[in-house]
Amino acid sequence: MQAAKDNFNQDKSFVQVAVPAPLYSRFDYLVPPGLDPSQLQPGCRIKVPFGRRVQIGVILAHSDHSSVASNKLKPLQSVIDSQPVLPADILELLTWSSQYYQHPVGEVIQAALPVLLRQGKPPAVKGQAEWHLSETDADVNEVCKRAPKQQSLYQLLSQHADGMTDDMLNQHSENWRAAMKALHEKGLVYRTEKSCLPEAVASPEPGPELNNEQQHIIDSVQSHDDGYRAHLVHGITGSGKTEVYIALAEQVLAAGKQVLVLVPEISLTPQLTERFRNRLGVRTATLHSAMNDSQRLCAWTAAACLDNENTAELVIGTRSAVFTPMPRLGLVIIDEEHDGSYKQQDGFRYNARDLALVRAQHANIPVVMGSATPSLESLYNTERERYQLHTLKQRARAQSEPRIELLDLCKQKLQEGLSPRLLQAIDRHINNDGQVLLFLNRRGFSPLLMCHDCGWTTACRRCDAHMTFHKGKQLLRCHHCGAEAAAPQSCGDCGSHELVSIGYGTERIEQLLHDIYPDTAIERIDRDTTRRKGALHTKLENARSGQARILIGTQMLAKGHDFPNVTLVGILDTDQGLYSGDFRAAEHLAQLITQVAGRAGRAEKPGEVLIQTHHPDHPLLQTLLHQGYGGFAHAALEERKLAGFPPFRHLALLRCESVKVEDGTAFMQAAREQLDAIAIQGVDVFGPVPAPMERRAGRYRLQLMLQATERKYLHAALQPWIQSLVKLKAGNKVRWSLDVDPYDTY
Ligand code: ADP
Ligand code: ZN
Ligand code: ZN
Repeated sequence: MQAAKDNFNQDKSFVQVAVPAPLYSRFDYLVPPGLDPSQLQPGCRIKVPFGRRVQIGVILAHSDHSSVASNKLKPLQSVIDSQPVLPADILELLTWSSQYYQHPVGEVIQAALPVLLRQGKPPAVKGQAEWHLSETDADVNEVCKRAPKQQSLYQLLSQHADGMTDDMLNQHSENWRAAMKALHEKGLVYRTEKSCLPEAVASPEPGPELNNEQQHIIDSVQSHDDGYRAHLVHGITGSGKTEVYIALAEQVLAAGKQVLVLVPEISLTPQLTERFRNRLGVRTATLHSAMNDSQRLCAWTAAACLDNENTAELVIGTRSAVFTPMPRLGLVIIDEEHDGSYKQQDGFRYNARDLALVRAQHANIPVVMGSATPSLESLYNTERERYQLHTLKQRARAQSEPRIELLDLCKQKLQEGLSPRLLQAIDRHINNDGQVLLFLNRRGFSPLLMCHDCGWTTACRRCDAHMTFHKGKQLLRCHHCGAEAAAPQSCGDCGSHELVSIGYGTERIEQLLHDIYPDTAIERIDRDTTRRKGALHTKLENARSGQARILIGTQMLAKGHDFPNVTLVGILDTDQGLYSGDFRAAEHLAQLITQVAGRAGRAEKPGEVLIQTHHPDHPLLQTLLHQGYGGFAHAALEERKLAGFPPFRHLALLRCESVKVEDGTAFMQAAREQLDAIAIQGVDVFGPVPAPMERRAGRYRLQLMLQATERKYLHAALQPWIQSLVKLKAGNKVRWSLDVDPYDTY
């Protein structure tokens, strides 16, 4: 029998392909005669017939046998790449991730490829067109006599000696192309191609001399440079972590290797990228979501060294940059390792921090993580000596640490949520030439409107939530499903005009302070005020320069910015975080307080931090204040241990949403039965239960949690379970997803 089957497939050759589809299998294709199988390397893209369409897949492996009868197999259609776009190490990381996160390999590979590569385009470091004036003796006003548009375009170009890119021109006018074409035809302008990678800075800036603490970290990372090793730098804000990263990167770059720096959000911290670039003087590629497809492809290609003239030594990127091919990678740096944005929250739900560690381990190179507020997981890993812990205890520039005080809100008469003591402090700092930063993690004017006559509220029709009142725009907006409506002038129930704003958002605080300080420059920084392109940049500049005297913002303001002039930080609302049901809520609150507080007094001026709360005696706040973040983390880890949460137990969450309640219930119950049938020891199952917000965007949401004492037990359960879940009929009427190591339980 065996011989017969082998015979049957004799002389045939097959490739295993990852096809972009939500399916948990690899697909075999026949290599057509005439194609040299050795040309088909893993990591190359090919076109394959798939269903009724042709898809672009990536070769995972090729072999001389297939478990599928060859009369059922189709031949691949054509080969796109002669060289792999995904090198072996990245392919290995991706297949590993696909198994770990139980996500279809085709989708995992899609997530790692720039859009243009998914579409079959070649990798290229091709930039934008750049326009310059030609040398000419012609009198332009004469040549373009009846063409005022050409004249003004010519004028504009003459003000930019280094030329203007399409992007720059677009900012000036929408219809410049026709006029440019005419100028081009007249020989008045010429075009060049600008690489999208900025040139390396020719003379890098020198850095400060490192202090003993910093030097100690560098020595100790270097003494282990014989392979993989994970380091965690726990250093308060301003303690010089970035200088440590730069110094480490410098050495690795000098040895001819590449460095990957992961950051939570680049658009929020453009200074960081500039700082690396200016200090290291190497070609730097950045990768983040605000780039367009061709910029992304360009940076990716440069990092992958697929264009010999334009390779990037340094790559700074957000989450998905962890998958960037870098053939000479020698060091991975993960800034703000605790940050939630490293976790992808939909689709392929990976954690880039964790994958960066896996990647460094596979590549056998060091990885350095840093944070002022490390995640509890990472601190636990230092306790278990999986990571080496380094601490930076002092601010690098010998500033004093800010004074932190809790303001008890109980029985206080509040003005739009601000206590008299906070208002007095604001006044004092404004009058002393200080800068004030107020933090409130709620945008809009008020979280809801309520009828004073009958109690009607602005509930969202599609969510178990209220619609936020945005006063400036006179809109109601649901922050969960995006629904929008004009703000009502009267009660939706009794028609009364007595509508009151309940609660406070950033817009309301801004208005209050504007009323009190009409002549003071105030910047509100949240997602509403920074939608317009460039708005965030302008606002951050005003904040940094000190031109804006009062800053009001959401968590956008809490992340990594250096505001040298801030002297007072006020945290308006901590009570929500103290009493949230999520297992990570306490950690988030402590991180937030520590990070926001770190914004005060970074330069010459001493800082003051005031935290408003109704629960000044809460153990979390007390521990944080008296024992710092480290003390808090220690206590919080004890609690996690007792409650059986990560890092002591390993979680997976099955989420499901459906338009009809019954559909979700049917699926989740079937899923639970399947899991019970697998019954792996060491895995506890909870649920199905309604999600904390049971209805969102018109769908009912359920979840089921797996809690395992050891990771291997969790995966022993997940693997067979997912195979049975995809076959469940009840799955057709719902949307479901599996989240391994969920970041939160919403
Ligand atoms: P972090 O990344 O921990 O917030 P930074 O590396 O940004 O800290 O350092 C904070 C400030 O102190 C920066 O302006 C930096 O240039 C400066 N700095 C860092 N290390 C030193 C040092 N050894 N000597 C003098 N200034 C330093
Ligand atoms: Zn009413
Ligand atoms: Zn809604």
